[in-house]
Formats: sequence, C-alpha cells, structure tokens
Amino acid sequence: MARVVNLKLERSVFRKVLVANRGEIARRVMRTLRALGIASVAVYSDADIDAPHVREADEAYRLGPGPITQSYLHVEALLDAARASGAEAIHPGYGMLSEKADFAETCEAAGLTFIGPAPAAIRAMGSKLGARQLMREAGVPIVPGALSPCDDPQAAHTLAEELGYPVLVKASGGGGGIGMQVVRQSIALAGALESCRRVAERYFGDGTVYIEKYIERPRHIEIQVIGDARGHVLALHERECSIQRRHQKVIEEALSPAVTPELRRRMEEAAVIGAEAINYVNAGTLEFIVDEQGEFYFMEMNTRLQVEHPVTEMITGVDLVAEQLRVAAGEPLSFDAAPAARGHAIECRIYAEDPKRLLPSPGTIENIAWPELDHVRVDHGVEAGYTVTPYYDPMLAKVIVWGEARADARRRMIEALNQTRIDGIKTNIPVLLAIARHPSFASGQYDTGFIDSHGILASI
Ligand code: ADP
Repeated sequence: MARVVNLKLERSVFRKVLVANRGEIARRVMRTLRALGIASVAVYSDADIDAPHVREADEAYRLGPGPITQSYLHVEALLDAARASGAEAIHPGYGMLSEKADFAETCEAAGLTFIGPAPAAIRAMGSKLGARQLMREAGVPIVPGALSPCDDPQAAHTLAEELGYPVLVKASGGGGGIGMQVVRQSIALAGALESCRRVAERYFGDGTVYIEKYIERPRHIEIQVIGDARGHVLALHERECSIQRRHQKVIEEALSPAVTPELRRRMEEAAVIGAEAINYVNAGTLEFIVDEQGEFYFMEMNTRLQVEHPVTEMITGVDLVAEQLRVAAGEPLSFDAAPAARGHAIECRIYAEDPKRLLPSPGTIENIAWPELDHVRVDHGVEAGYTVTPYYDPMLAKVIVWGEARADARRRMIEALNQTRIDGIKTNIPVLLAIARHPSFASGQYDTGFIDSHGILASI
C-alpha cells in the first residue's frame, strides 16, 4: 500500500477534538486522531447509541433523538458536548454541518477551532452562482451559462437560445444532484425552472435557480487541494468520479484513466488559482466537468473533506485528516510539494438500498464480512446487529483498493466485493460488481451516463 508521508507530527496540534458526525466518516477521523495521540469525543443520536463510532471514541455525548435536526445538526447540543468534554476543536466530517458558514462562526465565537476553512471561504463557494462569478474573475474556466439568477423566464429563454439546447437547470444552493433538470427544448424551460425552484426552496431554503450548458457525455473529474494559513496551496492530483447514479457518485478512482499529464497540469493549476482566490485553508475539492474534446469547466468547490478522499490518500500516502488538523492549528503543510501519485486506487460506495429500484433499504444487519486482502481499505460505520434507519444517508461503507496499475486495482476490487457480505438488508454490491466487471469500465472509456447507457441496473 502507498506509504504514509505525514503521520509524523512531533507534537499533537490539539489535545482533544470533537467529531460532529457519525458513521464511517466519524470513525475515519477518529483513526487519525488516535494515530496522532489526540483524544476523540463522539456525539450520537438515540438511533446511534450502539454505533461503532460511539464505542471507539474516548468519550461520547448524546445529542438528541434520531432525526438530524434534533441531533447532528443541533448546534446548541454540540456546543454543550464540546464544553462538557473540554474539546478544543470540532471536526465536522462531510455533510451535516461541514459547509455551514454560520456553524463555523459559532464555533469560533465559542472559542473552538473549526477544522475547516474560514467562514468567508465557505460562503464564497456555498452558492454555485457566486462561485461561478468568483472563479470566472479568477480566470478559471466555468461551464458556459448564467452568472446571475434566472428569475425572468424571458431572459432565461434568450440565454438558453444563446447557449444552445440542451441546458441544465440547477439550484444555486443545491447539492446531491437535487432539483437538477436537463432541458432539451425551449417549451420545457419555464416548467423546469419553476419545479427546480420549488424543490430548491424545500430542500435548501433557497429558491435561486440558474441555467448552464448541459455538456453531453462528460466526465466528472475533480482536483483535491490543500492549503495552509501561510498561503501555501497544493493540488494533490485528480479523482475520476464519472460512475454516478442520479448525478451521485458511486465509484471513484485516482488517477483518472482519461487525464493526460498535460490536462492534469492545467487542471491542477486552475484548481490552485481557484483556491487561492478565496485564501483557502483546509482540504478542499474543485469539481470540473470535462467534455468529449478534453476541455474542462469548473462546476463547484466543496470546502470540506470529500467522501472519496481515500483514493487520493492511497496514491499519495498523505493522511488528509492529519493535514486538516495541522493547517487548522496554523501549522504549515507537512510537505512542500505534492507527493507524486503512485499506483492506482478505486473506491466503491456501499449503500443500504434496493439495487434495482435505488430505494433505501433500512433494517437490521444480521451478518457482515469485510474483505481480507492486501492493499484493501474498508471505511465503514456498521457491524452485525446494527439497525440502518431512514434518518441518515444510506451509505454504509467504502471499499477502497490499491494496485500498481489500474488493471490490478480493478481485479482486486472485484475480489474485495466478492468477499464483502452484508446480510439482512439489501445493498448495491451487485451493481458495483456489474460495473467493475464491465468491459467499458475495464477499458477506462466511460462517462457520467455509464450506468444508464450500459443498462447496468437491468442486468443485475
Ligand atoms: P450537486 O452539487 O447537486 O451534486 P453538481 O454541480 O456537483 O451538483 O453536479 C453533479 C453531477 O451532475 C455532476 O457530477 C455531473 O454528472 C452532472 N452535471 C452537473 N453539471 C453538468 C453540466 N453542465 N453538464 C452535464 N452534466 C452536469
């Protein structure tokens, strides 16, 4: 497996850190805390009282009932837990409060270090429209489209004609592909804008919508960046995230089989310029869409640790959580230049879902078996006897493999998935296996429409 380059802090940057999250990411953050000799504080809802992340922490505090608004998003309860435990810092993981600028501010006001970027940087990237404006000014190529809200249907029509159909209607405050709609004809535009606005209002409390050019058969390729408080921003290469279902990632790899050294250099340069434009301090990701001609366009920046960060860790040997802790404490990055990528890594996300219908599949896990192979990392937050509830994201685990070459990694992934058993609930493991075995995946020739265009769901 790739070597670890940065777990060598002579002294701990913090003594105690509260992890404001659950499941696999809470455990993953705690693993680094342990390795650095930092005490960990878990928080939990009533639904997670027996969850592994609670047991593994040095201390644990109850937040409230199962629903996230009453537990993991309950800021007062979190601050009480931080005060009671004496934690000096809060790591938000991903999702939950990780990209809430107000929460970052509240932490700072309470004398706690938020392990993430400055609130202003979170805000700058929190609106997709605002981010598009900023990146355009910084000279980062963005997807052609609107720079301000599309409130007026007539102006939206004019812009769509200029861009040429198809166009994509998006929620500025959106995430998880929610509300997004492809529009292929002008007659459908007004309705799509209106329904996206309604969905955005309901999910994000922000009905701002806009349109951009819909790029056909694109690849989603993103650049991992990391910046410290001394103004040093580095790009840790790309992740290929084009295997998606409903615009949500399912399999990610690093490096991308589609990126040439020249394209990598240009994308990394753009990502660093983008992060520098907001004085970015933390691990972050600039997401790009790459068209069939190999042109890349900025889509959005995620100002947090990403679900798929392990593939970057596997090929670089960097522990991204350790770097997050360092830079949040004002320390410099532990390396002057980005470590070169070594080998190839692939990650599969295992969801508790009915694989054919893509519906969540809650229930109690009866038995579980994880792969036992070299160069395989499993980040998970569940065990036998654990009950998957409808309260939280249905992602249970990530299986991450490494190989000298992509073909080795793919073979290892198939073996690892074959060894993985989660009994008692339905999972998407059959879908992951069907993708991993598919000749087009094996060839590296694929785009974001892979699952649909190859009839993967119908084949299982
Ligand atoms: P969200 O924040 O809701 O997840 P993103 O902007 O990150 O939305 O886009 C999610 C996915 O939607 C992308 O990975 C890509 O597959 C698809 N997508 C987004 N924008 C475009 C576009 N302009 N053209 C084609 N596909 C797109």
